[in-house]
Amino acid sequence: MNKKELQAEIMRLKKEKDICILAHAYQDHELWEVADYMGDSYGLSLQAEEAPQKNVIMCGVRFMAETVKTLAPEKRVFLANASAGCPMADQLTREDVLKLKEKYPDHTVCAYINTTADLKRAVDVIVTSSSAIKIIGNMPDDKILFVPDPNLGGWIAEQMPEKEFVFSGEGCPSHRKITADDVKKARELHPDAEILVHPECMAEVTKIVDFAGSTTGIMKYAKESEKTEFVIGTENSIVDHLKIECPEKNFYPLSPKCVCDDMRITTLEDVYGCIMGTSGEEIFLSPQEIEESRKPIDRMIELGG
Ligand code: SF4
Repeated sequence: MNKKELQAEIMRLKKEKDICILAHAYQDHELWEVADYMGDSYGLSLQAEEAPQKNVIMCGVRFMAETVKTLAPEKRVFLANASAGCPMADQLTREDVLKLKEKYPDHTVCAYINTTADLKRAVDVIVTSSSAIKIIGNMPDDKILFVPDPNLGGWIAEQMPEKEFVFSGEGCPSHRKITADDVKKARELHPDAEILVHPECMAEVTKIVDFAGSTTGIMKYAKESEKTEFVIGTENSIVDHLKIECPEKNFYPLSPKCVCDDMRITTLEDVYGCIMGTSGEEIFLSPQEIEESRKPIDRMIELGG
């Protein structure tokens, strides 16, 4: 089957087998075209919870499929490519967090949503890059232990000097590849462009650009801006999506190195194989794991409104 035939077959089969397909923003455009919903990991989980279908296929990485299972435990949830992990989510375990809690007993533990379901069981609240400022701002707690991205955590801390932060974890290896030197070069090459980056980038980058925000925030900014040239500092798939969605504007990657192999591993063939039961993996979490990992997510919803 060629690409169009495969996409048509996936569209037919997903209706026949009552499947909702979710595609993270960093997936290839050809996967967006067969998806019921596209967005960031939290947005996708909410869509999965509300979707009428009984089965969900996640085109993304493992922690995203786990979050969907946590929020919609009655559904069968599949990860389209079983080897799609997140190197950042794997940097800290639940046991690591329990040890950190002993070291910082008076700190509230706040974890980025890009963490495993097992780690979520040990933390107090989850945040996303788009909701972190609001959620932590709404918390009465003034001592925060933030995991596992010190770059996102530092960007949040910068905006709320009234709170005290400690960090653990190393952050996203893909976004860490972008440097201040890349920004300097981009300014020389594209002097009229605005530079938009994700706060998973290092502080040396976020401090000298025009806008730092979540993936959806970057896309919204670029679409609504009157400017016509943008340099994008996040996973480079977003450059491709923006080129397709805003053909009248110009988009350039801030660094050719900002590519997440795990996010790019999933293909249309994987989705087809997952539907046919020949590839992919069903996500299983015990009732206890679901109950415990859901608590900090519910706290996020409560604080984020
Ligand atoms: S881009 Fe970074 S945070 Fe996202 S899946 Fe890849 S390694 Fe994980």
